[in-house]
Amino acid sequence: MRVEFDRDTCIGMFQCVEEWAKFEKDPDAGKADLAGAKESEADLFVLEVPEGEEMDAEFAARSCPVDAIRVYDDGEQIV
Ligand code: SF4
Repeated sequence: MRVEFDRDTCIGMFQCVEEWAKFEKDPDAGKADLAGAKESEADLFVLEVPEGEEMDAEFAARSCPVDAIRVYDDGEQIV
């Protein structure tokens, strides 16, 4: 499972931070950070979801009001 975080779209509502510990607040930037993620293109961060954290990743994605978080399983977008 892979998560993609579009940091440019993020508006810093921080619901995701409550759902998954991988999301951290960056209050100065008014954005979330996805810990351990690699920037695959400008402001798009990608992370393989560690085993056991799949539900947290999905909940984080569902909680985002601007759909800045997408979750893929076997290449197919599920959130
Ligand atoms: S819930 Fe969405 S908009 Fe809010 S901090 Fe997380 S990624 Fe950004």
